[in-house]
Amino acid sequence: MDSNKVPVEPKKRRIGVLTSGGDAPGMNGAVRAVVRMAIHCDCEAYAIFEGYEGLVNGGDMIRQMHWEDVRGYLSRGGTLIGSARCMTFRERPGRLRAAKNMILKGIDALVVCGGDGSLTGADVFRAEWPALLADLVKAGELTKEQVEPYKVLNIVGLVGSIDNDLSGTDATIGCYSSLTRICEAVDDVFDTAFSHQRGFVIEVMGRHCGWLALMAAISTGADWLFIPEMPPRTNRHDRGKRRTIVIVAEGAQDRQLNKISSDKIKDILTTRLGLDTRTTVLGHTQRGGAACAYDRWLSTLQGVEAVRAVLEMTPQSPSPVITIRENKIERTPLMDAVQLTKNVTDKINNKDFETAMTMRDAEFKEYYRAYLNTATPDHPKLYLPENKRMRIAIIHVGAPAGGMNQATRAAVNYCRTRGHTPLAIHNGFPGLCRHSEDTPVSSVREVTWLECDSWVNEGGSDIGTNRSLPGEDLETTAKCFERHQFDALFVIGGFEAFTAVSQLRKARAQYDAFKIPLVVLPATISNNVPGTEYSLGSDTCLNTLIEFCDAIRQSASSSRRRVFVIETQGGKSGYIATTAGLAVGAVAVYIPEQGVDIKTLSNDIDFLRDNFRRDKGANRAGKLILRNECASSTYTTQVIADIIKEEAKGRFESRAAVPGHFQQGGKPSPMDRVRALRMTIKCMQHIEEFAGKSRDAIAADKMSAAVIGIKGSQVLFGPMGGENGLEATETDWARRRPKDEFWLDLQETVDVLSGRSASRRNQETWGCYEST
Ligand code: ADP
Repeated sequence: MDSNKVPVEPKKRRIGVLTSGGDAPGMNGAVRAVVRMAIHCDCEAYAIFEGYEGLVNGGDMIRQMHWEDVRGYLSRGGTLIGSARCMTFRERPGRLRAAKNMILKGIDALVVCGGDGSLTGADVFRAEWPALLADLVKAGELTKEQVEPYKVLNIVGLVGSIDNDLSGTDATIGCYSSLTRICEAVDDVFDTAFSHQRGFVIEVMGRHCGWLALMAAISTGADWLFIPEMPPRTNRHDRGKRRTIVIVAEGAQDRQLNKISSDKIKDILTTRLGLDTRTTVLGHTQRGGAACAYDRWLSTLQGVEAVRAVLEMTPQSPSPVITIRENKIERTPLMDAVQLTKNVTDKINNKDFETAMTMRDAEFKEYYRAYLNTATPDHPKLYLPENKRMRIAIIHVGAPAGGMNQATRAAVNYCRTRGHTPLAIHNGFPGLCRHSEDTPVSSVREVTWLECDSWVNEGGSDIGTNRSLPGEDLETTAKCFERHQFDALFVIGGFEAFTAVSQLRKARAQYDAFKIPLVVLPATISNNVPGTEYSLGSDTCLNTLIEFCDAIRQSASSSRRRVFVIETQGGKSGYIATTAGLAVGAVAVYIPEQGVDIKTLSNDIDFLRDNFRRDKGANRAGKLILRNECASSTYTTQVIADIIKEEAKGRFESRAAVPGHFQQGGKPSPMDRVRALRMTIKCMQHIEEFAGKSRDAIAADKMSAAVIGIKGSQVLFGPMGGENGLEATETDWARRRPKDEFWLDLQETVDVLSGRSASRRNQETWGCYEST
């Protein structure tokens, strides 16, 4: 090598991406996003195959990735660029070889997707980097000039792990997919356990972290739970159920840190309770399969953010890891997150379980408590004093949505733990009013613990839901409130639920009956309730929709080149269409907020033509366009499909597909189930704040009519009324959606990652898009 020659810097910045440690669904989505975002930002993307192994071995294991190379990645499970546990990278000589390979390939930024081990390795590598370069020069492996442009190594971490074991982030890429798989399996076991009055002990993954086990127990209503963070204290008694389900994390242990195996639990159930018990170890099925909607969304947005972080880093900035808090993607110093995680393990090893629980993440302990309270019927110790106990009515308003039953069950159980009376109103406001006189049938019934137990995994609305509003007959509604002596109303539903509470709140001037706490828990697949960025049921709907899209796309891969125009629900809100578009990698998404016009269609047809031309054989698959049902009254789904077909002039064809009510059905996703529990408990606690207060004092407090919502990184209650209330400031009443829709920016990301925005840019520059 001629050391005097001025090194030629690569024309473009090169960003490497690798997946390491245990594989997790969603890793492919992250790789796709990093590759495409890097190319979009005028960088070159390189995949390092087999994790650190590829970095150490170099050569063909580090390969440039082009736009088309990651086509179809979103819907594939595992990691397509491979992962390995690499012992050589743990030692310095291994990392020396890795550094040399990176420089030879011209890469000075690395996005690492893996667990805490992988991220620790990445940080060690960055810290050592200057010394590694010096050694390489000293040993004559590289020249000073060669290393000169690569003085600084940028590392950005993405957490890919099914265990959700990294502190500092609410969710890791893969954890919700894994939870989905576990819940499907446990739901199935439930049926057989019920049929035979059997006990089942189900072992799930989680060597050091009980997140999967805890969330699975909540989502499926398991009777006992064993996790590493909180060994069991007591044995609980029989509760009259036909089946007994025990969920055990593989790392479960007792207070002396002795392993609690699933077989040991099985023996206890068999010998002590005389219960016919079976054991099921779910094993690697928990890792497999396609990523769920949330993991596709998370991995995509975090991958995009990782590239942004690479480009914004300075030599002084600590390596960041991309995290999520509630609904907000953030950056945290990587080593802080790793250190926090290690501290939790230390606390467990020191038998300080209480602190370990608190440190896991803010909500973990809360979830655990909520689980305990809902898993058993009697908690006299938690009862409020008599004068604070309330009669809390629960009602469903609007279309059914996943999570409604779970929220109702959680409300009933919470009421029972506190001594309140949970009253279910059947069939919404018309149901309430229909039985206003003393008829033998009452639409208002107290719900027992055992009765609502089976609602734990059921879709739809068991108590019945109705779109009609109380404004249709306020007087009868008020009478019914009085007759049943409601002290609070918990309303589960979508925009109608919001409107209903608005009407009741406004009618407080005429009717004292409405001067009680009125709380809305948003539940609608459209996710169009002011005051929140998330509604129960929207995640279930997205999962159903992406399953539909994946299947339809696959059907096209074996036939001719085909574009599917898929019509999504969502009313006048394009949330579902856009988020599903992000999760399936749609070519374009048409939403009411933007409308559809002939120019857009024409540009998109040019883009499709180009897209098909560049398709490689192996990656060939159908293309998807998602169109919200209200995107345009002229350009209907069928019309768009017909126009595309006509204009394609035989190069490809087009079909319309409408999943319709399929989107509202099915068992709720685990995310909707666990969030139903958590949000409901917050609602109940909010209602309790008004216990014992006078009606006028309640009416005077603007928080007495409120919506619970996720906003950015927080869960908040927003007041309905008042000058700054949601009704006045955040509601677009005519279009039945929030005024500012937080997700509108996602449109741009969908377009960037499909290549549509580049196509549009080029069309504007050259009149027509011609790719190279
Ligand atoms: P995970 O990333 O899922 O926690 P591991 O702990 O097995 O999985 O780590 C994956 C890989 O990361 C290891 O095989 C090794 O190559 C690398 N690695 C882990 N810890 C370190 C470390 N302290 N120093 C260097 N490399 C490490």
